[in-house]
Amino acid sequence: MTDSSPPLSLLEIRLDAVCRNYLLLQKKLERGCDLAAAVKADAYGLGAHKVVPALYRAGCRHFYVAHAEEGIRARAVLPEDAGKAHVYVLHGTGGTDAEEFLRHDMTPVLNGFGDIENWAALARRKEKKLPAVLQLDTGMNRLGLAADEIARLCAVPDILQPLDLRYVMSHLACADEPAHPKNRAQLEKFKRLTGALGLPCRLSLANSAGIFLGTDYHFDQARPGCALYGINPTPDAPNPMQGVITLKARILQIRDTAAGETVGYGAAYAAARPVKLATISVGYADGLLRSFGKNGMVYIGGCACPLTGRVSMDLVVADVTGVAAQAGDYAEIVGAHQTADDVAAAAGTIGYEILTDLGRRYKRSYTG
Ligand SMILES: *Cc1c(COP(=O)(O)O)cnc(C)c1O
Repeated sequence: MTDSSPPLSLLEIRLDAVCRNYLLLQKKLERGCDLAAAVKADAYGLGAHKVVPALYRAGCRHFYVAHAEEGIRARAVLPEDAGKAHVYVLHGTGGTDAEEFLRHDMTPVLNGFGDIENWAALARRKEKKLPAVLQLDTGMNRLGLAADEIARLCAVPDILQPLDLRYVMSHLACADEPAHPKNRAQLEKFKRLTGALGLPCRLSLANSAGIFLGTDYHFDQARPGCALYGINPTPDAPNPMQGVITLKARILQIRDTAAGETVGYGAAYAAARPVKLATISVGYADGLLRSFGKNGMVYIGGCACPLTGRVSMDLVVADVTGVAAQAGDYAEIVGAHQTADDVAAAAGTIGYEILTDLGRRYKRSYTG
């Protein structure tokens, strides 16, 4: 294979679309409300080394990651003089030497009383105020201080003295279901708990979908992820965001089969009539879920071609009967005809998982 031979599978990531999505979300916020970006899990699988600098150029100065290692990588691709770019680590200092946070100028999200004590102890040792974000649990029951811990904190407010508390945050469980009563309940609880803490500090509640619940939910900082990457933050309404990726794979072979022939492992599909089949170079090792085999489609020359049989590790087979498909053509998996959300719906999952599962074998190209 020479360098000029076309790749077996292609993943195009449009950074300009990510930036347009960032600006579109920003328009929904009032002045003074910061728009952060969730760039955890390698910017939802799209490549933090490219996405983080692109968002920085679009004006983003607040970046959320899950692991400290992700924060170190994000810091490394932010401009050196970017004193104002903040990197927040959602999982806090657990699992990392806390000194790493100082070395790489990262701010931990403190999720419990122990986290606060440890970070405050380091601040006292260093004899300087250390930045922190405090997470409260308002009903997700996943991370953050529960009501009893908040009461304990109110009893010993001095414990926060060595810290420079940047934000108090919480996370919504059902923001993508606007009518869900949990949204209001969490909003009210967030107001009540932050009021009880009585800290003069900025507040953050909304993820992507939370931004679309209305300005009540915006406070001083929103933290979208999925919407930046083109996933619909309002699943019950048309997607206000732009698609960010195109995913294509090449047809390796075309074959004509007789009625009664089966396709792939387990002979899970049997042709009811003579069919023309295209074998395509993409499989579950590339992140195309096995559950996509049942109802999944690919698009060839703009025509919808249903998958036949199971998704294999490196291959799928599509029914291209009546379609002008040839070996060497590309089949579109995500693009103009099908979104990552569509693929997710067919596979019985959410667009997030389609993005974070994107494999390493695609020839990736970044545009914009
Ligand atoms: C992942 C995450 C976000 C972003 O969520 P999206 O639904 O992708 O917008 C915001 N806040 C927290 C705490 C998160 O874990």
